[in-house]
Amino acid sequence: MTTVRTRIAPSPTGDPHVGTAYIALFNLCFARQHQGQFILRIEDTDQVRSTRESEEQILSALKWVGLQWDEGPDVGGPHAPYRQSERSDIYKRHAQELVEKGHAFHCFCTAERLDALRAEQSAAKQNPGYDGHCMQLTADAVQQRLATGEPSVIRMKVPREGICELPDMLRGAIEIPWEQVDMQVLMKADGLPTYHLANVVDDHLMEITHVIRGEEWISSAPKHVLLYRYFGWQAPVFCHMPLLRNPDKSKLSKRKNPTSINFYERMGYLPEALLNYLGRMGWSMPDEREKFTLAEMIEHFDLTRVSLGGPTFDVEKLSWLNSVWLRDLSVGQLMDAFQRWAGRDYLQKVAAQIQPRIHTLSEAAGWAAFFFSGTVATTPESFQHKKLAADDVRRILQVGLWELEALRRWNHDEIAAMLARTSEALGFKLRDFMFPFFVAISGSASSTPVMESMNILGPDITRTRLRQALAVLGGVSKQEAKDWEKAWREQGQGTVVDTPEGAA
Ligand code: GLU
Repeated sequence: MTTVRTRIAPSPTGDPHVGTAYIALFNLCFARQHQGQFILRIEDTDQVRSTRESEEQILSALKWVGLQWDEGPDVGGPHAPYRQSERSDIYKRHAQELVEKGHAFHCFCTAERLDALRAEQSAAKQNPGYDGHCMQLTADAVQQRLATGEPSVIRMKVPREGICELPDMLRGAIEIPWEQVDMQVLMKADGLPTYHLANVVDDHLMEITHVIRGEEWISSAPKHVLLYRYFGWQAPVFCHMPLLRNPDKSKLSKRKNPTSINFYERMGYLPEALLNYLGRMGWSMPDEREKFTLAEMIEHFDLTRVSLGGPTFDVEKLSWLNSVWLRDLSVGQLMDAFQRWAGRDYLQKVAAQIQPRIHTLSEAAGWAAFFFSGTVATTPESFQHKKLAADDVRRILQVGLWELEALRRWNHDEIAAMLARTSEALGFKLRDFMFPFFVAISGSASSTPVMESMNILGPDITRTRLRQALAVLGGVSKQEAKDWEKAWREQGQGTVVDTPEGAA
């Protein structure tokens, strides 16, 4: 019998997401239950968006919740390397093989041609997709153009007729008409693979037997099924898990709910409780008990009992479950949990901030309190300022929040540069402009330097506090958000990511 092998394959392009831990947990339980192996692979083929920082954070966040993998970039294993950026030659060889077998072709179409094609298709209300233009080229013509160094990509051929039948452990046979499937680029002009090629090649070479992943990948699966067929490989069993939802049933997003595992760690959730809660997403213990450990979950796990109704990730329910876990600890264990949570590194950063401000150690708690609390207490009066109108305060916080949501790297200098730029563009003196941030972040206009405080608190707690401040100030209407966003863009600014919190 073949050994069950599952994997989690995160792309290191942002904060460690609770959805990654959720999918990893179900993969781990399935593998462990079958005495199989669970692998972690880093899918960093998107060189622009992938960072090592994000990779490190994802690994440490998954370890923090208590997940362990048998093979991965940090622990090695028989199929190393486990980082796709170190496997380029493997993908090149495989793309070449598909071209030779006639399942893929070189495409020389320019961005202009593809844009025009897309515009035409959208005007004619057709499915967008490649029209097969370069498939007609003769082998000689292709060789000549390659020899001149003309930029090209490799695309896979996709049947234009018929239906792709995709067997799924939870959903039975999913049927997707081939005409809805684009002739996917497999190798980009820079010689690097796209997700689809690298993912299939690696799942095969790493002997993955079950691909358990989020339902957002269903539309990609026909391409994958086809690639397995083209290579002559047996496809793994697919299982597309329901996506986590906000309490309003929209897809879990950081604009509505904090999604970073770091947020939950900083807020003081126990890793065991978070993992327990994730285990209750679409799944339950046979006896319906709410509190269970990872070992108990593995013992009773049954993947086919996952329910497809979108599981709601509700922070209030998580808090309740966490309180149960906290109460069940002995006082000694609770003290240990406190110590681990406060953490020497974090304490050190906070201590450095308050050191210049205290006369006695007994003053420390007052200065440091906002570093250790989840939210801060403010009222609309807290935000009153002699030079800023109430609308200015809300606009400053909203635009600041948009910019902070778009910030790629979280460190003092990036935050400071962004805030200075935003302040100038909005036409405020930096001193005045920073006032609402002081209050939103620390609860008071006089606190430790606020940009460094944001840096220490991290992106999620910072954004959450700005959102809370906006809510205290009555929220931002959809119309206001639209106007502010328009004005912001007209100034050549703006990386607005979504409508604001509380938009009515
Ligand atoms: N790299 C993909 C992701 O970011 C992996 C998807 C899959 O599991 O196939 O989730």
